[in-house]
Formats: sequence, structure tokens, C-alpha cells
Amino acid sequence: MSIKRDKAQVLWREYFPDFDYYKPKTVNEALELLNKLKNDHAIVLAGATCLSRNFRARKFEVKHVIDLKGIPELRGIKYAEGEGLRIGPVTTFHEILKSEAIRKKYTALWEAAKQYGDFELKFRATIGGNIAKSSPQNDSSPPLLVHKATLTLASVEGVREVPINEFFTGVTENVLAPNEIITSINVPEPPENSRSGYIKFRRSAEDRAVVGVAALVSNPGDRSKRIIRLAYASIAKTPVYVKEAEEIFRKEGDINSLIDEAINAAYKYVDLPIGHGKRGQDLRASKEYRMHLVRVGTKAILKKLIEGVEVF
Ligand SMILES: Cc1cc2nc3c(=O)[nH]c(=O)nc-3n(C[C@H](O)[C@H](O)[C@H](O)COP(=O)(O)OP(=O)(O)OC[C@H]3O[C@@H](n4cnc5c(N)ncnc54)[C@H](O)[C@@H]3O)c2cc1C
Repeated sequence: MSIKRDKAQVLWREYFPDFDYYKPKTVNEALELLNKLKNDHAIVLAGATCLSRNFRARKFEVKHVIDLKGIPELRGIKYAEGEGLRIGPVTTFHEILKSEAIRKKYTALWEAAKQYGDFELKFRATIGGNIAKSSPQNDSSPPLLVHKATLTLASVEGVREVPINEFFTGVTENVLAPNEIITSINVPEPPENSRSGYIKFRRSAEDRAVVGVAALVSNPGDRSKRIIRLAYASIAKTPVYVKEAEEIFRKEGDINSLIDEAINAAYKYVDLPIGHGKRGQDLRASKEYRMHLVRVGTKAILKKLIEGVEVF
């Protein structure tokens, strides 16, 4: 028995640095702790799917880990007709998949949860951790962008509301202050008669997106009421919302020509290398291949949402 324990201790030491572990029960308690320890290598933890790897790789020094999972007010999904959706940041992708409201009204997010990681990861990884990690490949970001979500960020100094389109600032960088956490993901009621969807191109079942495409479509046949929004994962240093697409789809003209115009607008955002790729290219795919996937993915998701035809 003692041999086993020794082995476990050796493994633990190999995986994790020494740190103090805190499990607050309220948001205020967590914020007080983070504010007190923010200059002494403190970090908040949710599902730990990213952090455990970073700990093992000793990517940064960590002395204090503040676990958010024991705070009930940060968990759960609430939907009210006409008001919209509120998701607690420590809600897992598995919990998102179980939500009928998300499946019906915010389908792009449901499809992103479905295509996120593998079975085991879905049970641990949280949507708040996904957003806070701020990787350009994040699956939750394009759906939240086309649904025009906002994030509630809280610190001991107070609370602020940030549109998700203004949250990401670079590869794994965002506007969070060192003493701030995400306390809520807020998604408005979708436009009338709208549908949304997400397509993820990846190399294997567990992989992050080579390119992810989300779209929201409302009244495609009626130009006066038509709304079409497009957002992408893994084409630039942050998740991308193609704001020009909104205007393009309000114009007169054949819808296929407008789709081509919107794809050309999306191309302008493609900006590699993403992350720490060598030879000027991200490891997953070249710029040319990503542009190809932007075209194929945009056409496929819009065909599905406009005509009901599944391409993939
Ligand atoms: C094998 C593997 C496969 C993966 N596949 C995918 C994939 O298919 N798609 C994808 O998008 N990602 C993928 N990821 C990345 C990762 O799983 C996700 O980003 C995940 O959602 C992170 O959530 P978490 O709860 O595990 O975060 P954690 O690892 O606990 O934390 C991640 C970061 O977010 C911060 N954080 C967490 N919660 C908050 C909060 N409420 N407020 C402020 N900061 C916070 C932490 O301090 C940390 O910096 C994969 C990772 C692995 C290891």
C-alpha cells in the first residue's frame, strides 16, 4: 500500500506544482480572495481541462488556486421567453447539451457543445473556462458572437457588462482584469423566425477547430426583415465576428451572390499565425486551406439554415 501511495505522490509532484487550494462558497468570497492574492500568482479554476495541462507544463508560476465550482450562483442555465438566456460560467458542455431551450433557441451553441471535445471532456469543461481561456479555436465563441451575447464581469470594485465581441484582444488574451471573473453569460432572445447553427472542421474527434463557422439566419426570403450573421473560430488571433455580413445581406440581389460577397468579407479577417505556429503558419492548417474551409463551411451552414439542406 505504501508503495502505491509513494507512486501517487511522485506522479502528483510530476503533474502539479505546490499550491494552496481554496474553494469559496459565494462569489463575494471568491472575489475577496482573488483581490487579496492577485499579485501573488493566484488563478481561478473551473473544469481544469486547460489549467491541469498548464500546471504540468509549468507554463506559469502558481501559488494559489481558487476553485469556482463550489459556488452555486455560478452554475446553471435559465431561459425566459422574451428575456433570453443566462448561463452560469461553471456550467459544463454536458449541461448545455441537456438544455432543450438551448437546443431549440440557440442551436449554434448546442451544436458547438455537441462537437466540443470528447465524451469525458464535456463532463468537466465549462463554458466560462472556454471563454476565459480566449483561444481563437474556442467552440463556444462563434455561436455566442452570432447570438450577440454579453458577459458579466465582476470584481471587488463592482460589475460591468461587456459585449462578447469586445472581450477578446489576442491569442489567449482578453479584457479581464487580474481581480475579475466572469459571473454570467447573457444571451438575448433571438430575432423572430431565426435559426442558428455551427459547423466545426477538425482533424479528429477530440481536436480543436481547424475552422469553426457559426451563422444565424432570420427571414431569409424577405429582404426588409432579413438578418444573417456570421462568426468564425480559428481563422485569426481572436474569434471573428464579420460585422460587414449584416449589411451585405440587407442589400438587394441574388442570395448566392450576397453569400459570395460575405465570404470575401470573412477572408479579410484570416490572419495567421494563430498562436505559436512555426514557419508563419498554425500547425493545424495553412492560410489557403483555412480560407477554403471558410468558403465551404459558410455555404454549407447557410444552405442548411436557409434551405434546410444538410451538406455535412
Ligand atoms: C484534450 C483537450 C481537448 C480539447 N478540445 C477542445 C475543443 O474541442 N473545443 C474547445 O473549444 N476547447 C477544447 N479544449 C480546451 C478546453 O477544454 C476548453 O477551453 C475548456 O472549455 C476550458 O474550460 P475549463 O472549465 O476546463 O477551464 P479551466 O482549465 O479551469 O480554466 C481555463 C482558464 O479560464 C480561467 N477561468 C475559468 N473560469 C473562469 C471564470 N469564471 N472567470 C474568469 N476566468 C476563468 C482560468 O483561470 C484559466 O485561465 C480542449 C482541451 C483539451 C485538454
